[in-house]
Amino acid sequence: MIIIKQEGGKIISGASMKDVPNILWLEEIRKEDIVSVGGKGASLGEMASIGLPVPKAFVVTAQAFRRFLVETAIEKKIFASYERLDVEDNEALEKAAEGAKTMVLKAKMPAFIKDEIRHAYKKISAEDLIVAVRSSATAEDLPDASFAGQQETYLNIKGEAALLEAVQKCWASLYGARAIYYRAKQGFDDHTVNIAVVVQQLVHSEKAGVMFTSHPITGEPLTIIEGSWGLGEAVVSGSVSPDKYIFDQRSEKVDDVLISNKKVEIIADGDHGTKLVDVPAARQDTQVLSTAEITKLAMYGKIAENHYGIPQDVEWGIVNGIIYILQSRPITTIGNKKEAKSMSGQKQNAKIILQGQGAAPGIASGRVVVIRDVKDTGSVKEGDILVTKMTSPDMVPAMRKVAAIITDEGGLTCHAAIVSRELGTPAVVGTKTATHVLTNGQLITVDGEKGLIYEGEITAPAKPAQVVQMAAAAPHIITATSVKVNVSIPEAAARAAATGADGVGLLRIEHLILGLNKTPGWFIANNKEEDFVRELHDGIKIVLDAFPGKPVWVRTLDAPTDEFRNMMGGENEPIEHNPMLGWRGIRRDIQSPDQFRLQVESFKRLWKEGYDNLGIMFPMVSHPDEFLAAKAMMMACGVDVDNVTLGIMIEIPASAIMIEDFLKCGIKFASFGTNDLVQYTLAIDRNNENVADMYQPQHPAVLHLIHTAIQMCRAYDVECSICGQAGSDPKMASWLVEHGIASISANIDAIAKIREAVARTEKRIILEAARNRDAE
Ligand code: PEP
Ligand code: MG
Repeated sequence: MIIIKQEGGKIISGASMKDVPNILWLEEIRKEDIVSVGGKGASLGEMASIGLPVPKAFVVTAQAFRRFLVETAIEKKIFASYERLDVEDNEALEKAAEGAKTMVLKAKMPAFIKDEIRHAYKKISAEDLIVAVRSSATAEDLPDASFAGQQETYLNIKGEAALLEAVQKCWASLYGARAIYYRAKQGFDDHTVNIAVVVQQLVHSEKAGVMFTSHPITGEPLTIIEGSWGLGEAVVSGSVSPDKYIFDQRSEKVDDVLISNKKVEIIADGDHGTKLVDVPAARQDTQVLSTAEITKLAMYGKIAENHYGIPQDVEWGIVNGIIYILQSRPITTIGNKKEAKSMSGQKQNAKIILQGQGAAPGIASGRVVVIRDVKDTGSVKEGDILVTKMTSPDMVPAMRKVAAIITDEGGLTCHAAIVSRELGTPAVVGTKTATHVLTNGQLITVDGEKGLIYEGEITAPAKPAQVVQMAAAAPHIITATSVKVNVSIPEAAARAAATGADGVGLLRIEHLILGLNKTPGWFIANNKEEDFVRELHDGIKIVLDAFPGKPVWVRTLDAPTDEFRNMMGGENEPIEHNPMLGWRGIRRDIQSPDQFRLQVESFKRLWKEGYDNLGIMFPMVSHPDEFLAAKAMMMACGVDVDNVTLGIMIEIPASAIMIEDFLKCGIKFASFGTNDLVQYTLAIDRNNENVADMYQPQHPAVLHLIHTAIQMCRAYDVECSICGQAGSDPKMASWLVEHGIASISANIDAIAKIREAVARTEKRIILEAARNRDAE
C-alpha cells in the first residue's frame, strides 16, 4: 500500500522518499515501481525483465523530482502560484504555467542529484552516449493515467550538461498549460502528481516500424509487421507507406510480404532533432526486412504477448543488424478508437428495434438464428446471433461460435450473462420478445453495453470486443483492496489472468460440470466416478495454473434442479416449484454424500499436487451447522480440514445475520453472493425480467446486511469479499471499499474499471485522513 505522509508542508508518496533512490536502472525496475518511474519507465523495466532487447536506460525517479522540489524550497511557491487559477481562462492559464515552469527551470538542481545523474550517464557508456530523455508522469491513484504527450521528450541529447538541462526541462513540463488544464479537468490533485524521467540510449534505427503481435481486430495468431527505412516515426506518423509482413504464429512462417514504394525516411539531424529526407531510388522498392528479421521480431512479439497475456502493439528498430524493442503496449488505441468513431457515426441513423439489459459489452453484427429448443443448436453457425428464451449449459458449445447473444428472459446474473461475459461475446438479456420479434436470417447489430439491438449491419461482423476488453484491463494500478476475478469456464482463465487480477474470488464449478452434459448422478450411477473427478480436477487445474501463487476460491456445486434436468441423468431431478429456493448449493451436497465426495476427491488431488492456493467455498449456507457438516464430510474424506482454506458464501440473509457464529466455527473467509443475497432479501427473482427494475443491489436492507457482516469479519480478522455481480459495479465497489471490504471479485470485463474505482476510493480515504490530521 502507498502510505501518505507529510513532508515539506505537503503530501507526498510516503514509502517513496526514504526507500526509493534517485536513480533506478532498467534491470531493477518492475511494474510495481510505476509510482516511482511512471508508466513508460515501468513498461521498459518489465520488457527488459522478460529478456526483450530494450536499449540501455535508467530512470531519474519521481522521488528525485520530489527531493528537488523540497531542497530548492519551490514547491509551495509553485502550487500557490496557480492555486486559484481558472483553467478556462486561457491567458491566465498560460501565464501561470509559464511562471511555474520558470520556477522549476531557474531553481538550482541539488548537487547530489546532479552527481547521481552524471554517474549513471557515465555508467551507461564511457563515451558521451546519445540519449533520449523522456518525461514519464505518474499519479499515485492512477499511476498510468493518460498523461501521455503532455510532458516533453528530448531526443538526441549528448553530454552531461545537455542531459542535466533536459531532465530539468522534463520536470518543468509537468507544469505546461496543457498538463495543468488536463489535470484540473480530470480532478487530479496536482500535489500528488509526480514526474520521472527516462534516460535511454537513442537508437538511430536504420530500419524501424511497428508490429501487432496478433490480428488487431479478430485476435487471430497472425503477427502483422510494418517497417520502413530510418526512424520509426515515419511509420507511426504515417509519412510513408511501409512494407507489410504477415507472420503466422501457427505455422511459424512468413505468410505474406507486401513491398511498398518508400519515398521518404526520418533520420537524426546532427545532435538535435530529426529530419525528413528522400529515400534514394535504389532503396525505395527494396524489401526492408529479411525473413530472419521478420521471424525474430515475431518471436519477440510473442514473448511480449505471452507475458502480458494481451495482444501487443510493439515499436521496434534495427541498427547494425541488432533488433531493439522500443515500446510495447496493449492493442487498444488504434483499432478501438476507429471502431468507436465509425460506430457512433453510423448509429445516429440506425433504427433501434429492440431493447434489453446490456449484459456483456461489445458490438457485433450478424444474422439471427432463433433457437427454441436446445436440440436445434446444430443449426447455429460461426458469426450468427443467437436468439433464445434463455441459454442453458448445454448451449455453451453454440454460444462459443456466435457473434452475439440475445435472450427473452434473465437479468445481469443469468446464465447467458455470466457465460457471455466470460466468452467475451456481446449479449443483451431480458428483451422479453426477442424470440418473437426477430426472425431467422435477419441482419442485426447488437450493442451489449447499452442493451440495444439495431436493424442491419453497422459494424464489421467480427468480435472486436474481446480485444477491447482485454486491453482495457491492463494491470497497472496497485490497490490495497485485492481486486480478484470471477471465472466460470476454464477457457476464460487466460483472459481472466490477463487482467492481472489478484486471484480468483469465485470459480463456479457447476458450469464445468454442466458443460459435460451429464449430471454428477449419471457418473455415479454408471460407474464413471473417476471420469467425473478427472474432469473436475483438470478444469480447476487450468484456472490454478493461470493464477500461480494467487488465491483461487473454488465453489462446490451450486446448480439448481432445472439446470440439471436437460442433461443425461437429469430425468430424475425433482420438479420444483421454485428451483431458486430449492435443492441446490451446500444443502444438496450434504444430502448427496457421493456427489460431494467426488468433488472433494478432485480437490484433494490438487492439494496433493501442491496447489496450496486452492481454497474451497460453500454456497447457499444458511446456518453454521451446514458449514460444520460439510467440514466433517471433508474430514471423513481424508482432508486435513484445519490446514486448508475453507470459507462460505454469504448469499442468504441468515448467513449475514449469523456471521459471528460462522466466524466462531472457523471459516477462513466469507464472500457476498449478492446475486442471491439481493433476491432473498428483497423477494425479487433474479431471473425474472418483469421485476428486474426492482432488483436493487444497493437497497438499504442489502447494504445493511453487507455492512454488518464486513464489520464482524474485520473484528475476527477474516477476509471478507464479494463475488456477486454487484462487485462489478464501480459505485458499489467504491461503497464496499469505504465500508472496509478486503477484496472484490469482479467479472473479467469489469476488472479495469473496478481496479480504478478501488484505487480512487482508497486514495480519497487516505487523503481525507491526512487532511483531517492537518486540520487538527
Ligand atoms: C451470487 O449469488 O452472487 C453468486 C455469485 O452466485 P451465483 O451467481 O452462481 O448464484
Ligand atoms: Mg449464488
